[in-house]
Amino acid sequence: MASNLDQAREQVRATGARVTGARVKVLAVLLQADEALTHTEVQRRLEQGDAHELLDRVTLYRVLEWLVEAGLSHRVSGPDRVWRFSAHGDDAPAGGGHAHGAQHGHFKCRRCERMFCMKSSSRLARTVRGMLPDGFDGDAVELTVVGRCAECAAAEAGAPHDEALRAAPEAAALAVADGR
Ligand SMILES: [Zn+2]
Ligand SMILES: [Zn+2]
Repeated sequence: MASNLDQAREQVRATGARVTGARVKVLAVLLQADEALTHTEVQRRLEQGDAHELLDRVTLYRVLEWLVEAGLSHRVSGPDRVWRFSAHGDDAPAGGGHAHGAQHGHFKCRRCERMFCMKSSSRLARTVRGMLPDGFDGDAVELTVVGRCAECAAAEAGAPHDEALRAAPEAAALAVADGR
């Protein structure tokens, strides 16, 4: 996790804001995770990590909010409607404080229920805007693909009934939100 800590420190410093241990450690947890994490999952990983960092819920929530405001992470609502936080999903490396992650979709694994960021694409946003009715003005595209993540797909491979399960993601939900 050392390199994640270095990367996190660098990214927090690049915003010009104060570099605090809490900001760096929480961002490092997000950078290390493959999937988007809930508040509770971040807290658990902090407690299990080398740092043994104990942050109270309010402090952790403030740090996560700050990371979103600073453009170092973003949040996505999960199947349970609980916010999940991720520092991934952008093609460009984060750290310049640039807008992060609005134009990428998310993948929801039906088996383990984790949410993953997909690659960002300006073409995706343009395409979806082209599908809007006349006069509608969409600011952000929220795209969710449902299926099985690589880990779950591998776990299910070889099972006798896996022909149907191996099918490509079979449901996609699209929502064009405004005012974000
Ligand atoms: Zn999965
Ligand atoms: Zn994302």
